Amino acid sequence: MSIVSRFAPSPTGYLHLGHAYSAWMAWRRADVFRLRLEDIDTTRCRPEYAAAILEDLRWLGLDWDGEVRVQSAHFPDYAAALERLRGLLYPCFCTRAEIARAQSAPHGVEGVYPGTCRALAPEFRAARIAAGAPYALRLDVAAARRCVGALRFCEEATGWVEAEPERLGDVVLARKDTPTSYHLCVVHDDALQGITHVIRGEDLREATHIHVLLQALLGLPTPIYAHHKLLTDASGKRLAKRDKAATLREMRAAGTTPEAILHQFETAT
Ligand code: GLU
Repeated sequence: MSIVSRFAPSPTGYLHLGHAYSAWMAWRRADVFRLRLEDIDTTRCRPEYAAAILEDLRWLGLDWDGEVRVQSAHFPDYAAALERLRGLLYPCFCTRAEIARAQSAPHGVEGVYPGTCRALAPEFRAARIAAGAPYALRLDVAAARRCVGALRFCEEATGWVEAEPERLGDVVLARKDTPTSYHLCVVHDDALQGITHVIRGEDLREATHIHVLLQALLGLPTPIYAHHKLLTDASGKRLAKRDKAATLREMRAAGTTPEAILHQFETAT
């Protein structure tokens, strides 16, 4: 089987070693390697970071096939996918503070939307929307589940995994300022780019449960998943942009070579 994999960074900063490791993990297995810029959050993504990502990948020798898919140029595609899910979406008027309060209540679950707006009366929803209240569109996961039944995906190293999208709750699929979401775009574009193997960090393992549900709802194929360990620093802490983890740019300026970085990756695997 020929392997089509991808690297799908969000250009919200310069690539650090952790991103590069993820790109390399996907690249080294690929017969065809696709690149995608996940830049739907136009408030956080910047063109200079996008350009720097391409330059850094080239410097490292991780070449890609075909055009780069730039998500911000394709909002109508995602709107069409969202439209197909319309009957399973509901408007959510909750603020972040309200959600946090409900999650910390006795029966609340950390990180999972408590479902406050799921059962609002249609007239109430319509009145709030007409009054201009901001809202997000959430997927009614229980209703979606009833449409598609049991689901599973193949985690390459360990075998079949039952999908449990309920673990993430009713995720947001669109907001007023960003009329789509990571979950919707990633599923749409993995299918569009013909990805057979999604090779990415294990921090995205949970999200896969929702991705598999969306694939089933949209009639898209489910790729094989391989979630890899995240690179850590010397103290065992995960590398992250916000901690000012070493960027490839800084390493390059300090004289590190691509060979040295790839050697570090080989030994980490
Ligand atoms: N854009 C996501 C990120 O930068 C990665 C998406 C994915 O690999 O599915 O974290």
